[in-house]
Amino acid sequence: MTIAWPLATDQTFVDQLEGLYVEWSAASVPEPTMLALNTDLAEELGIDPDMLSSPDGLAVLVGNAVPAGAVTVAQAYAGHQFGGYSPRLGDGRALLVGELIDRHGQRRDLHLKGSGRTPFARGGDGKAAVGPMLREYVMGEAMHGLGIPTTRALAVVATGEPVMREVVLPGAVLARVAASHLRVGTFQYAAATGDPDLLSRLVDHAIARHHPQAAEADRPALALLDAVVQAQAALVARWMLVGFIHGVMNTDNTTVSGETIDYGPCAFMDAYDPATVFSSIDHQGRYAFGNQPAIMAWNLARLAEALLVLIDDDEDSAVAAATEVLSRFPEYLARVHEPAMRAKLGLDPDREQDGDAELAADLLALMREHRVDHTMAFRALGAAARGDVEPFSGLFAQPAAVDAWLGRWSSRLGPDRVAVGAAMGRANPIYIPRNHLVEEALAAATDGDLAPFRQLVEVVSQPFDARPGLARYAEPAPDSFGPYQTFCGT
Ligand code: AMP
Ligand code: MG
Repeated sequence: MTIAWPLATDQTFVDQLEGLYVEWSAASVPEPTMLALNTDLAEELGIDPDMLSSPDGLAVLVGNAVPAGAVTVAQAYAGHQFGGYSPRLGDGRALLVGELIDRHGQRRDLHLKGSGRTPFARGGDGKAAVGPMLREYVMGEAMHGLGIPTTRALAVVATGEPVMREVVLPGAVLARVAASHLRVGTFQYAAATGDPDLLSRLVDHAIARHHPQAAEADRPALALLDAVVQAQAALVARWMLVGFIHGVMNTDNTTVSGETIDYGPCAFMDAYDPATVFSSIDHQGRYAFGNQPAIMAWNLARLAEALLVLIDDDEDSAVAAATEVLSRFPEYLARVHEPAMRAKLGLDPDREQDGDAELAADLLALMREHRVDHTMAFRALGAAARGDVEPFSGLFAQPAAVDAWLGRWSSRLGPDRVAVGAAMGRANPIYIPRNHLVEEALAAATDGDLAPFRQLVEVVSQPFDARPGLARYAEPAPDSFGPYQTFCGT
Protein backbone atom coordinates (compact mmCIF):
# COMPACT_ATOMS: atom_id res chain seq x y z
CA MET A 1 0.00 0.00 0.00
CA THR A 2 1.29 3.51 -0.78
CA ILE A 3 0.07 6.73 0.78
CA ALA A 4 0.41 10.40 -0.12
CA TRP A 5 2.96 11.91 2.26
CA PRO A 6 5.10 15.06 2.21
CA LEU A 7 8.41 13.33 1.48
CA ALA A 8 11.08 15.00 -0.61
CA THR A 9 10.67 13.91 -4.21
CA ASP A 10 14.28 12.79 -4.29
CA GLN A 11 15.74 10.23 -1.95
CA THR A 12 19.37 11.27 -2.05
CA PHE A 13 20.74 8.41 0.03
CA VAL A 14 19.02 5.79 -2.14
CA ASP A 15 19.72 7.63 -5.39
CA GLN A 16 23.42 8.28 -4.74
CA LEU A 17 24.62 5.47 -2.54
CA GLU A 18 23.77 2.17 -4.11
CA GLY A 19 25.98 -0.37 -2.41
CA LEU A 20 25.24 0.99 1.06
CA TYR A 21 21.76 -0.41 1.52
CA VAL A 22 19.39 -3.24 0.82
CA GLU A 23 15.83 -2.55 -0.32
CA TRP A 24 13.60 -4.02 2.31
CA SER A 25 10.04 -3.87 3.64
CA ALA A 26 8.80 -3.67 7.18
CA ALA A 27 7.10 -6.58 8.87
CA SER A 28 3.37 -6.00 9.00
CA VAL A 29 1.98 -4.75 12.29
CA PRO A 30 -1.37 -6.18 13.37
CA GLU A 31 -2.76 -3.40 15.52
CA PRO A 32 -0.95 -0.05 15.45
CA THR A 33 -1.94 2.32 18.26
CA MET A 34 -0.37 5.73 18.82
CA LEU A 35 1.47 5.97 22.14
CA ALA A 36 3.33 9.25 21.71
CA LEU A 37 3.22 11.81 18.93
CA ASN A 38 5.62 14.73 18.71
CA THR A 39 3.32 17.44 17.40
CA ASP A 40 6.00 20.15 17.59
CA LEU A 41 8.34 18.11 15.43
CA ALA A 42 5.52 17.18 13.05
CA GLU A 43 4.82 20.86 12.53
CA GLU A 44 8.50 21.61 12.03
CA LEU A 45 8.44 18.97 9.29
CA GLY A 46 5.31 20.42 7.73
CA ILE A 47 3.24 17.33 8.50
CA ASP A 48 -0.26 17.68 9.92
CA PRO A 49 -0.25 15.90 13.31
CA ASP A 50 -3.86 14.80 12.74
CA MET A 51 -2.78 13.06 9.57
CA LEU A 52 -0.13 11.16 11.55
CA SER A 53 -2.76 9.90 14.00
CA SER A 54 -5.10 8.80 11.22
CA PRO A 55 -5.07 5.15 10.08
CA ASP A 56 -3.00 6.14 7.02
CA GLY A 57 -0.51 8.04 9.15
CA LEU A 58 -0.16 5.16 11.60
CA ALA A 59 0.31 2.76 8.70
CA VAL A 60 3.36 4.74 7.49
CA LEU A 61 4.71 5.18 11.03
CA VAL A 62 4.94 1.41 11.54
CA GLY A 63 5.83 0.47 7.96
CA ASN A 64 2.48 -1.10 7.01
CA ALA A 65 2.32 1.42 4.18
CA VAL A 66 4.98 3.28 2.23
CA PRO A 67 4.72 6.92 1.18
CA ALA A 68 4.07 7.22 -2.55
CA GLY A 69 7.35 7.07 -4.45
CA ALA A 70 9.45 5.97 -1.46
CA VAL A 71 11.78 2.99 -1.45
CA THR A 72 12.42 1.71 2.07
CA VAL A 73 15.94 0.47 2.74
CA ALA A 74 18.03 -1.07 5.49
CA GLN A 75 21.32 0.83 5.63
CA ALA A 76 24.65 -1.00 5.71
CA TYR A 77 27.40 0.01 8.09
CA ALA A 78 30.30 -1.47 9.98
CA GLY A 79 31.49 -0.44 13.40
CA HIS A 80 33.84 -0.80 16.31
CA GLN A 81 31.75 -2.03 19.23
CA PHE A 82 33.60 -1.67 22.53
CA GLY A 83 36.78 -1.45 20.48
CA GLY A 84 36.23 -4.64 18.48
CA TYR A 85 35.57 -4.33 14.76
CA SER A 86 32.43 -5.77 13.16
CA PRO A 87 32.63 -5.50 9.37
CA ARG A 88 28.88 -5.87 8.85
CA LEU A 89 26.39 -4.40 11.29
CA GLY A 90 23.74 -2.39 9.46
CA ASP A 91 20.10 -1.76 10.30
CA GLY A 92 19.08 -5.07 11.83
CA ARG A 93 15.67 -3.81 12.90
CA ALA A 94 15.36 -0.44 11.21
CA LEU A 95 14.48 1.07 7.83
CA LEU A 96 15.06 4.40 6.17
CA VAL A 97 11.66 5.49 4.82
CA GLY A 98 12.79 8.61 3.02
CA GLU A 99 13.86 12.21 3.35
CA LEU A 100 11.78 15.25 4.28
CA ILE A 101 12.53 18.93 3.85
CA ASP A 102 11.60 20.73 7.05
CA ARG A 103 10.27 24.25 7.46
CA HIS A 104 13.84 25.58 7.68
CA GLY A 105 14.75 23.95 4.37
CA GLN A 106 16.81 21.25 6.09
CA ARG A 107 16.75 17.71 4.77
CA ARG A 108 15.86 15.17 7.47
CA ASP A 109 15.64 11.37 7.41
CA LEU A 110 12.50 9.57 8.45
CA HIS A 111 13.52 6.21 9.85
CA LEU A 112 11.70 3.36 11.60
CA LYS A 113 13.18 1.30 14.43
CA GLY A 114 11.62 -1.99 15.50
CA SER A 115 10.12 -2.59 12.04
CA GLY A 116 11.13 -6.24 11.72
CA ARG A 117 14.17 -8.35 10.80
CA THR A 118 16.34 -7.28 7.88
CA PRO A 119 19.26 -9.03 6.19
CA PHE A 120 21.45 -7.35 8.86
CA ALA A 121 19.49 -8.78 11.80
CA ARG A 122 21.97 -11.56 12.65
CA GLY A 123 20.44 -13.25 15.73
CA GLY A 124 18.05 -10.40 16.55
CA ASP A 125 14.28 -10.53 16.27
CA GLY A 126 14.01 -7.17 14.51
CA LYS A 127 11.58 -5.90 17.14
CA ALA A 128 11.57 -3.26 19.82
CA ALA A 129 9.69 -2.96 23.09
CA VAL A 130 7.55 -0.03 24.21
CA GLY A 131 9.84 0.96 27.12
CA PRO A 132 13.11 1.41 25.20
CA MET A 133 11.40 3.25 22.33
CA LEU A 134 9.72 5.69 24.72
CA ARG A 135 13.09 6.04 26.44
CA GLU A 136 14.58 7.14 23.13
CA TYR A 137 11.70 9.61 22.78
CA VAL A 138 12.08 11.24 26.19
CA MET A 139 15.89 11.35 26.15
CA GLY A 140 15.91 12.94 22.69
CA GLU A 141 13.37 15.57 23.72
CA ALA A 142 15.38 16.34 26.86
CA MET A 143 18.52 16.82 24.76
CA HIS A 144 16.63 18.98 22.29
CA GLY A 145 15.30 21.09 25.15
CA LEU A 146 18.86 21.50 26.41
CA GLY A 147 19.89 22.79 22.99
CA ILE A 148 22.04 19.74 22.21
CA PRO A 149 21.99 18.40 18.63
CA THR A 150 20.02 15.18 18.53
CA THR A 151 17.89 12.85 16.50
CA ARG A 152 14.28 13.13 17.64
CA ALA A 153 11.31 10.82 17.91
CA LEU A 154 8.38 11.76 15.71
CA ALA A 155 6.18 9.04 17.15
CA VAL A 156 6.13 5.80 19.08
CA VAL A 157 3.40 3.42 17.94
CA ALA A 158 2.44 0.25 19.80
CA THR A 159 2.29 -2.79 17.54
CA GLY A 160 -0.14 -4.89 19.56
CA GLU A 161 2.43 -7.69 19.41
CA PRO A 162 4.42 -9.16 22.26
CA VAL A 163 8.22 -9.13 22.08
CA MET A 164 10.28 -11.71 23.89
CA ARG A 165 12.97 -10.32 26.14
CA GLU A 166 13.81 -11.64 29.63
CA VAL A 167 10.09 -11.22 30.08
CA VAL A 168 7.34 -10.75 27.49
CA LEU A 169 6.90 -7.05 26.70
CA PRO A 170 4.56 -5.02 24.51
CA GLY A 171 6.10 -4.16 21.13
CA ALA A 172 6.46 -0.75 19.49
CA VAL A 173 7.94 0.98 16.47
CA LEU A 174 9.78 4.26 16.82
CA ALA A 175 9.63 6.75 13.95
CA ARG A 176 12.82 8.77 14.22
CA VAL A 177 13.93 11.94 12.48
CA ALA A 178 17.63 12.69 11.98
CA ALA A 179 19.74 15.11 9.96
CA SER A 180 20.94 11.84 8.43
CA HIS A 181 21.86 8.35 9.54
CA LEU A 182 25.41 8.55 8.18
CA ARG A 183 27.73 7.19 10.82
CA VAL A 184 31.47 6.74 11.18
CA GLY A 185 30.59 3.07 10.63
CA THR A 186 29.06 3.93 7.24
CA PHE A 187 32.47 5.20 6.12
CA GLN A 188 34.21 2.18 7.60
CA TYR A 189 31.87 -0.07 5.63
CA ALA A 190 32.34 1.86 2.38
CA ALA A 191 36.14 1.90 2.79
CA ALA A 192 36.21 -1.84 3.50
CA THR A 193 34.44 -2.64 0.22
CA GLY A 194 37.65 -1.46 -1.48
CA ASP A 195 35.53 0.38 -4.06
CA PRO A 196 36.97 3.93 -4.23
CA ASP A 197 33.97 5.11 -6.25
CA LEU A 198 31.55 4.11 -3.47
CA LEU A 199 33.64 5.84 -0.79
CA SER A 200 33.95 8.92 -2.91
CA ARG A 201 30.18 9.05 -3.55
CA LEU A 202 29.66 8.75 0.21
CA VAL A 203 32.07 11.62 0.89
CA ASP A 204 30.34 13.81 -1.69
CA HIS A 205 26.94 12.97 -0.24
CA ALA A 206 28.03 13.71 3.35
CA ILE A 207 29.65 16.99 2.33
CA ALA A 208 26.61 18.16 0.38
CA ARG A 209 24.31 17.24 3.19
CA HIS A 210 26.17 18.31 6.32
CA HIS A 211 29.35 20.23 5.66
CA PRO A 212 28.95 21.95 2.26
CA GLN A 213 31.88 24.33 2.85
CA ALA A 214 34.20 21.30 2.61
CA ALA A 215 33.41 21.03 -1.11
CA GLU A 216 35.44 24.19 -1.74
CA ALA A 217 38.57 22.90 -0.01
CA ASP A 218 41.71 21.65 -1.79
CA ARG A 219 41.20 18.27 -0.22
CA PRO A 220 37.44 17.85 0.40
CA ALA A 221 37.80 14.53 2.24
CA LEU A 222 40.24 16.13 4.67
CA ALA A 223 37.94 19.14 5.09
CA LEU A 224 35.06 16.75 5.78
CA LEU A 225 37.14 15.07 8.48
CA ASP A 226 37.88 18.45 10.02
CA ALA A 227 34.19 19.42 9.96
CA VAL A 228 33.17 16.15 11.63
CA VAL A 229 35.91 16.52 14.24
CA GLN A 230 34.53 19.98 15.02
CA ALA A 231 30.91 18.86 15.13
CA GLN A 232 31.62 15.87 17.36
CA ALA A 233 33.97 17.77 19.66
CA ALA A 234 31.21 20.35 20.14
CA LEU A 235 28.68 17.61 20.78
CA VAL A 236 30.75 15.85 23.42
CA ALA A 237 31.49 19.20 25.07
CA ARG A 238 27.75 19.72 25.42
CA TRP A 239 27.23 16.24 26.86
CA MET A 240 29.93 16.92 29.45
CA LEU A 241 28.31 20.21 30.48
CA VAL A 242 25.00 18.54 31.39
CA GLY A 243 26.27 15.22 32.75
CA PHE A 244 25.02 13.10 29.86
CA ILE A 245 26.50 9.62 29.47
CA HIS A 246 25.83 8.10 26.05
CA GLY A 247 26.75 4.63 27.22
CA VAL A 248 27.46 2.96 23.87
CA MET A 249 29.75 5.24 21.87
CA ASN A 250 30.53 2.64 19.22
CA THR A 251 31.58 3.99 15.82
CA ASP A 252 28.23 2.88 14.39
CA ASN A 253 26.56 5.16 16.94
CA THR A 254 28.66 8.20 16.01
CA THR A 255 27.08 10.43 13.36
CA VAL A 256 28.88 12.64 10.86
CA SER A 257 26.17 15.30 11.30
CA GLY A 258 27.15 15.86 14.94
CA GLU A 259 23.78 14.77 16.29
CA THR A 260 23.45 12.49 19.30
CA ILE A 261 22.07 9.16 18.10
CA ASP A 262 20.93 5.83 19.55
CA TYR A 263 19.61 6.33 23.02
CA GLY A 264 20.08 2.85 24.41
CA PRO A 265 21.87 2.60 27.73
CA CYS A 266 22.34 6.36 28.07
CA ALA A 267 21.53 8.22 31.27
CA PHE A 268 22.21 11.49 33.03
CA MET A 269 24.71 11.36 35.83
CA ASP A 270 23.39 12.24 39.28
CA ALA A 271 26.28 12.42 41.80
CA TYR A 272 29.25 13.91 39.98
CA ASP A 273 31.92 11.33 39.28
CA PRO A 274 33.82 11.01 36.00
CA ALA A 275 34.00 7.22 36.53
CA THR A 276 30.21 6.89 36.36
CA VAL A 277 28.98 4.02 34.16
CA PHE A 278 25.35 2.90 34.00
CA SER A 279 25.41 0.37 31.17
CA SER A 280 25.16 -3.22 32.37
CA ILE A 281 27.54 -4.45 29.66
CA ASP A 282 30.24 -1.79 30.02
CA HIS A 283 32.32 -3.81 32.46
CA GLN A 284 35.59 -1.98 31.79
CA GLY A 285 34.06 1.49 32.00
CA ARG A 286 35.12 2.20 28.42
CA TYR A 287 32.20 4.60 28.01
CA ALA A 288 32.34 6.14 31.49
CA PHE A 289 31.36 9.81 31.74
CA GLY A 290 34.92 11.11 31.94
CA ASN A 291 36.15 8.92 29.06
CA GLN A 292 33.75 10.34 26.51
CA PRO A 293 36.09 12.92 24.96
CA ALA A 294 38.90 10.37 24.56
CA ILE A 295 36.53 7.80 23.09
CA MET A 296 35.15 10.33 20.63
CA ALA A 297 38.68 11.20 19.54
CA TRP A 298 39.32 7.48 19.05
CA ASN A 299 36.15 7.11 16.97
CA LEU A 300 37.18 10.06 14.81
CA ALA A 301 40.53 8.39 14.19
CA ARG A 302 38.58 5.45 12.77
CA LEU A 303 36.79 7.89 10.44
CA ALA A 304 40.16 9.32 9.42
CA GLU A 305 41.44 5.82 8.56
CA ALA A 306 38.42 5.20 6.37
CA LEU A 307 39.03 8.48 4.51
CA LEU A 308 42.80 8.11 4.00
CA VAL A 309 42.68 6.88 0.40
CA LEU A 310 40.73 9.99 -0.60
CA ILE A 311 42.89 12.42 1.36
CA ASP A 312 46.11 11.84 -0.57
CA ASP A 313 47.44 9.28 -3.04
CA ASP A 314 50.59 9.08 -0.97
CA GLU A 315 49.72 7.20 2.20
CA ASP A 316 52.32 8.91 4.41
CA SER A 317 51.07 12.34 3.37
CA ALA A 318 47.49 11.28 3.96
CA VAL A 319 48.32 10.00 7.45
CA ALA A 320 50.23 13.17 8.30
CA ALA A 321 47.40 15.43 7.16
CA ALA A 322 44.71 13.38 8.95
CA THR A 323 46.78 13.23 12.15
CA GLU A 324 47.12 16.99 12.14
CA VAL A 325 43.34 17.40 11.81
CA LEU A 326 42.66 14.86 14.56
CA SER A 327 45.07 16.70 16.85
CA ARG A 328 42.69 19.68 16.80
CA PHE A 329 40.04 17.76 18.73
CA PRO A 330 40.97 19.07 22.22
CA GLU A 331 41.03 22.64 20.94
CA TYR A 332 37.65 22.27 19.22
CA LEU A 333 36.20 20.77 22.39
CA ALA A 334 37.60 23.53 24.59
CA ARG A 335 36.24 26.16 22.21
CA VAL A 336 32.72 25.07 23.15
CA HIS A 337 33.29 23.76 26.65
CA GLU A 338 35.23 26.63 28.20
CA PRO A 339 32.87 29.54 27.43
CA ALA A 340 29.86 27.39 28.33
CA MET A 341 31.47 26.35 31.63
CA ARG A 342 32.12 30.00 32.43
CA ALA A 343 28.44 30.71 31.74
CA LYS A 344 27.46 27.89 34.09
CA LEU A 345 29.57 29.54 36.79
CA GLY A 346 28.15 33.01 36.20
CA LEU A 347 31.42 34.26 34.69
CA ASP A 348 31.77 36.08 31.39
CA PRO A 349 31.50 33.46 28.64
CA ASP A 350 33.09 35.77 26.09
CA ARG A 351 36.20 36.71 28.06
CA GLU A 352 38.45 34.27 29.83
CA GLN A 353 40.23 35.52 32.91
CA ASP A 354 43.09 34.05 34.91
CA GLY A 355 41.86 31.39 37.26
CA ASP A 356 38.57 30.61 35.49
CA ALA A 357 39.63 27.09 34.60
CA GLU A 358 40.90 26.42 38.14
CA LEU A 359 37.64 27.65 39.61
CA ALA A 360 35.70 25.16 37.49
CA ALA A 361 38.13 22.31 38.14
CA ASP A 362 38.12 22.92 41.88
CA LEU A 363 34.33 22.93 42.02
CA LEU A 364 34.15 19.66 40.14
CA ALA A 365 36.76 18.17 42.48
CA LEU A 366 34.67 19.19 45.51
CA MET A 367 31.52 17.80 43.92
CA ARG A 368 33.28 14.54 43.23
CA GLU A 369 34.74 14.26 46.71
CA HIS A 370 31.36 14.91 48.33
CA ARG A 371 29.30 13.02 45.73
CA VAL A 372 27.12 16.02 45.01
CA ASP A 373 24.37 15.98 42.37
CA HIS A 374 25.77 17.63 39.22
CA THR A 375 22.55 19.25 38.00
CA MET A 376 21.42 20.45 41.42
CA ALA A 377 24.80 21.93 42.30
CA PHE A 378 25.05 24.13 39.21
CA ARG A 379 21.43 25.19 39.49
CA ALA A 380 21.78 26.05 43.18
CA LEU A 381 24.87 28.09 42.38
CA GLY A 382 22.58 30.51 40.52
CA ALA A 383 20.67 31.11 43.76
CA ALA A 384 23.99 31.52 45.57
CA ALA A 385 24.92 34.29 43.14
CA ARG A 386 21.80 36.12 44.30
CA GLY A 387 22.84 35.68 47.93
CA ASP A 388 20.94 32.50 48.84
CA VAL A 389 23.89 30.21 49.53
CA GLU A 390 22.23 27.50 51.59
CA PRO A 391 20.65 25.49 48.74
CA PHE A 392 24.16 25.10 47.29
CA SER A 393 26.24 24.54 50.40
CA GLY A 394 23.51 22.30 51.85
CA LEU A 395 24.23 19.81 49.06
CA PHE A 396 27.59 19.09 50.71
CA ALA A 397 27.67 16.85 53.77
CA GLN A 398 30.05 19.36 55.41
CA PRO A 399 28.90 22.74 54.07
CA ALA A 400 32.06 24.38 55.46
CA ALA A 401 34.07 22.40 52.90
CA VAL A 402 32.86 24.76 50.17
CA ASP A 403 33.23 28.05 52.06
CA ALA A 404 36.66 28.83 50.68
CA TRP A 405 35.62 27.99 47.14
CA LEU A 406 32.45 30.08 47.48
CA GLY A 407 34.48 33.04 48.69
CA ARG A 408 36.87 32.84 45.74
CA TRP A 409 34.00 32.39 43.28
CA SER A 410 31.83 35.16 44.68
CA SER A 411 34.66 37.71 44.43
CA ARG A 412 34.77 37.00 40.68
CA LEU A 413 31.12 37.73 39.91
CA GLY A 414 29.88 40.93 38.34
CA PRO A 415 28.15 43.54 40.52
CA ASP A 416 24.60 42.95 39.30
CA ARG A 417 23.97 39.68 41.09
CA VAL A 418 20.35 39.44 40.00
CA ALA A 419 21.44 39.54 36.37
CA VAL A 420 24.24 37.04 37.05
CA GLY A 421 21.77 34.65 38.73
CA ALA A 422 19.31 35.00 35.86
CA ALA A 423 22.02 34.26 33.28
CA MET A 424 23.08 31.21 35.28
CA GLY A 425 19.49 30.01 35.23
CA ARG A 426 19.67 29.98 31.44
CA ALA A 427 22.92 27.99 31.49
CA ASN A 428 22.06 25.43 34.16
CA PRO A 429 18.99 23.23 33.72
CA ILE A 430 16.74 22.47 36.65
CA TYR A 431 14.99 19.48 35.03
CA ILE A 432 16.82 16.54 33.48
CA PRO A 433 15.30 13.11 32.85
CA ARG A 434 16.32 11.67 36.21
CA ASN A 435 16.86 7.96 36.18
CA HIS A 436 14.20 7.07 38.74
CA LEU A 437 11.62 9.22 36.96
CA VAL A 438 12.45 7.73 33.57
CA GLU A 439 12.10 4.21 34.96
CA GLU A 440 8.85 5.10 36.72
CA ALA A 441 7.38 6.61 33.53
CA LEU A 442 8.45 3.69 31.34
CA ALA A 443 7.16 1.07 33.77
CA ALA A 444 3.78 2.83 33.89
CA ALA A 445 3.68 3.12 30.08
CA THR A 446 4.52 -0.57 29.70
CA ASP A 447 1.48 -1.25 31.91
CA GLY A 448 -0.68 1.02 29.76
CA ASP A 449 -0.58 4.28 31.75
CA LEU A 450 1.06 6.98 29.62
CA ALA A 451 0.33 9.91 31.93
CA PRO A 452 3.70 9.90 33.79
CA PHE A 453 5.57 9.62 30.47
CA ARG A 454 3.69 12.56 28.96
CA GLN A 455 4.29 14.66 32.05
CA LEU A 456 8.01 13.80 32.06
CA VAL A 457 8.37 14.75 28.39
CA GLU A 458 6.64 18.05 29.05
CA VAL A 459 8.86 18.83 32.02
CA VAL A 460 12.21 17.98 30.42
CA SER A 461 11.31 19.70 27.15
CA GLN A 462 11.70 23.03 28.97
CA PRO A 463 14.61 22.22 31.23
CA PHE A 464 15.60 25.74 32.22
CA ASP A 465 12.21 27.14 33.31
CA ALA A 466 11.35 26.34 36.92
CA ARG A 467 7.60 25.86 37.16
CA PRO A 468 5.40 25.48 40.24
CA GLY A 469 4.34 22.00 41.24
CA LEU A 470 7.32 20.26 39.65
CA ALA A 471 9.63 20.02 42.67
CA ARG A 472 9.91 16.23 42.46
CA TYR A 473 11.36 16.50 38.96
CA ALA A 474 14.25 18.53 40.35
CA GLU A 475 15.09 16.20 43.22
CA PRO A 476 17.54 13.31 43.33
CA ALA A 477 16.43 9.69 43.39
CA PRO A 478 15.36 8.41 46.80
CA ASP A 479 17.93 6.13 48.47
CA SER A 480 15.53 3.24 47.93
CA PHE A 481 16.13 3.55 44.13
CA GLY A 482 19.59 2.01 44.64
CA PRO A 483 22.42 1.74 42.09
CA TYR A 484 21.19 2.26 38.54
CA GLN A 485 21.78 -0.01 35.54
CA THR A 486 20.80 0.48 31.90
CA PHE A 487 20.56 -1.97 29.01
CA CYS A 488 21.42 -1.91 25.29
CA GLY A 489 19.43 -2.44 22.14
CA THR A 490 16.20 -3.80 23.57
P1 AMP B 1 23.14 -0.57 18.85
O1 AMP B 1 24.57 -0.60 19.29
O2 AMP B 1 22.14 -0.85 19.91
O3 AMP B 1 22.81 0.70 18.14
O4 AMP B 1 22.90 -1.75 17.78
C1 AMP B 1 23.92 -2.54 17.25
C2 AMP B 1 23.44 -3.40 16.10
O5 AMP B 1 22.53 -4.39 16.55
C3 AMP B 1 22.75 -2.67 14.97
O6 AMP B 1 23.21 -3.28 13.79
C4 AMP B 1 21.29 -2.97 15.21
O7 AMP B 1 20.53 -2.90 14.03
C5 AMP B 1 21.35 -4.39 15.77
N1 AMP B 1 20.20 -4.76 16.62
C6 AMP B 1 19.95 -4.34 17.87
N2 AMP B 1 18.81 -4.90 18.34
C7 AMP B 1 18.32 -5.71 17.36
C8 AMP B 1 17.18 -6.57 17.21
N3 AMP B 1 16.30 -6.74 18.20
N4 AMP B 1 17.03 -7.22 16.04
C9 AMP B 1 17.90 -7.07 15.04
N5 AMP B 1 18.99 -6.30 15.10
C10 AMP B 1 19.21 -5.62 16.24
MG1 MG C 1 23.10 1.79 16.76
